[in-house]
Amino acid sequence: MLNKRFIVLRCPQCGKWTYARSKQKTRFCSRCEKRFKIDPVQVIYAADHRQAHYLVKMKNEEEMNK
Ligand SMILES: [Zn+2]
Repeated sequence: MLNKRFIVLRCPQCGKWTYARSKQKTRFCSRCEKRFKIDPVQVIYAADHRQAHYLVKMKNEEEMNK
């Protein structure tokens, strides 16, 4: 069964992808140094730390190639 312990999300201010634990309500963005609220509709669920890390890397690379 899929264990949704991590979420992959995007900073609404700068668009940088990052990940957090699914229980978290807010996340601090390292790029714009601001805390933002996590929108549960916009997140991608990940089963573990490794998957979350991989998704973040993929999404940020996708963003750079635009
Ligand atoms: Zn940001």
